[in-house]
Amino acid sequence: MAKSPETEHPVKVYGWGSRNSSGVLAPIKFSRRATGEHDVQLKVLYCGICHTDLHVVKNDWGFTQYPIIPGHEIVGEVTEVGSKVEKVKVGDKVGVGCLVGSCRQCDQCTNDLENYCPKVIWTYGSVYTDGTLTQGGYSNLMVVDEHFIVLWPENFPLDVGSPLLCAGITTYSPLRYFGLDKPGMNIGVVGLGGLGHVAVKFAKAFGTNVTVISTSINKKKEAIEKLGADSFLVSRDPEEMKAAAGTLDGIIDTVSATHPLSPLINLLKPHGKMVLVGAPAQPLELPVFPLLTGRKTIAGSGVGGMKETQEMIDFAAKHNILPDVEIIPIDYINKAMVRLVKSDVKYRFVIDIAKSLRPEYQLHSFMKFCMKSCVVILSVFVTFILCGIIFRFMSS
Ligand code: NAP
Ligand code: ZN
Repeated sequence: MAKSPETEHPVKVYGWGSRNSSGVLAPIKFSRRATGEHDVQLKVLYCGICHTDLHVVKNDWGFTQYPIIPGHEIVGEVTEVGSKVEKVKVGDKVGVGCLVGSCRQCDQCTNDLENYCPKVIWTYGSVYTDGTLTQGGYSNLMVVDEHFIVLWPENFPLDVGSPLLCAGITTYSPLRYFGLDKPGMNIGVVGLGGLGHVAVKFAKAFGTNVTVISTSINKKKEAIEKLGADSFLVSRDPEEMKAAAGTLDGIIDTVSATHPLSPLINLLKPHGKMVLVGAPAQPLELPVFPLLTGRKTIAGSGVGGMKETQEMIDFAAKHNILPDVEIIPIDYINKAMVRLVKSDVKYRFVIDIAKSLRPEYQLHSFMKFCMKSCVVILSVFVTFILCGIIFRFMSS
């Protein structure tokens, strides 16, 4: 008989995850492998909440295997290292992003593009080399091959910095790869959420002029005054969009839901490039004519390799690029997910795992459940007695 997630490995772990596509997360006990010779074990301190976590929990993309413990913007402290580990030592602060394994031999891997390896192993929801499902950072402890560990720059904030491990690399990589990092270029960022606001910060650090293209007019003031964007377009205002036609060299589209591409393509100059990084569940409609007339490019990009992720974190530390976050305890997670759906967060939730995730929390939840049950039983009992008294009173 197959072992359960709680018994398949020797190291007992606890976290919050989902058992079905309801979108609701709850405490889960599971297990992790013992630290192998190339492995690093870390105590998780903080973990950002990416919209991908929500897509996966709700099975938006149709391939989630439950139970699933999400989280791929993980920072922590090394608690144990395998005998052959050279990169880190116990006590070091480290990060773990979206991937924890790849074949390490193919063309992609040998070119530091493990993220495009056909056998890439994602931090959660992938089958690991031992046949078990990987589980993410909404948990107290991780065990990760040292190759997939990011060294945390000294004095760089752990809590605020954690979203860079996904939101950071996912936007940094296409800006670099597609040459959208040249000073003076006009760059559009579509969707001012977790990824979008970090894209604005990197694009500004590269010296480009940034236009935010958003559905939410109420983000305009902050986008310009706080994030440093140069201009702001409301994507649902056709007149505004039309007036800005042909002005952008490149666009990073981070939108998580279905949306029209045509008005965005029209914003590009001839030879402009639009890179999709958002991952809506449904296909987007692609109008061809605006691409042909102007030799425009539409492309996609997925996170980044380990070398580039380290480069991105070091660049962020050097230029003091930090996400804007709202730190939450783990038991706020379900409310946070509801707010994330409504784009009601500026701009990334980060879970304070070390402070709020404890085994006794599960006991606490159980006691809450018992107390709630007692209140319900007591209310029924009191109602019953009251009805009895009223009945007696009326019949006497
Ligand atoms: P997020 O924080 O929820 O931000 C998404 C933004 O998209 C929202 O803030 C909103 O911005 C805009 N938006 C939402 N619904 C929209 C709609 N119906 N029409 C137009 N705009 C809409 O999400 P995130 O964490 O940044 O992730 C964004 C997407 O990237 C997700 O699909 C995620 O799975 C994907 N992702 C991809 C990669 C990759 O490797 N390619 C990595 C990480 C995440 P405004 O309010 O400004 O309009
Ligand atoms: Zn992510």
